[in-house]
Amino acid sequence: MSSDCLFCSIVRGEIPADVVSQTEHTIAFRDINPQADVHVLVVPRLHEPDIASLAAADPDVTIALIAETLRIAQAESGGQYRLVFNTGEAAGQTVFHAHGHVLGGHLHSPLPS
Ligand code: AMP
Ligand code: ZN
Repeated sequence: MSSDCLFCSIVRGEIPADVVSQTEHTIAFRDINPQADVHVLVVPRLHEPDIASLAAADPDVTIALIAETLRIAQAESGGQYRLVFNTGEAAGQTVFHAHGHVLGGHLHSPLPS
């Protein structure tokens, strides 16, 4: 847990979110600024700054995160979707607590190249 981390605050229930699912290792909620018709963030309860450091720190939680990301993508977007794990500022990451984006339906703007 990191006291000044936005997603840790959501994990702790201190900041409200439109929660889609909760499991032992994950919480998923709708993105506050959706970039597609379906835009869900899937977050490990464990604080690690990105997916690479999560994978190094705890492979079991990483597998749980990816499995839940796939389950939500199937449930929310009928098997046709994009999964995005922005890693690093230069790749567009703005919240440094690992998370996956589930994007489904029409994108609201083209992905940056
Ligand atoms: P990234 O740019 O990959 O770090 O993604 C961070 C995402 O978190 C962005 O798509 C934001 O719109 C989203 N976001 C920021 N604050 C909140 C919040 N309070 N609730 C839900 N989503 C948020
Ligand atoms: Zn955090």
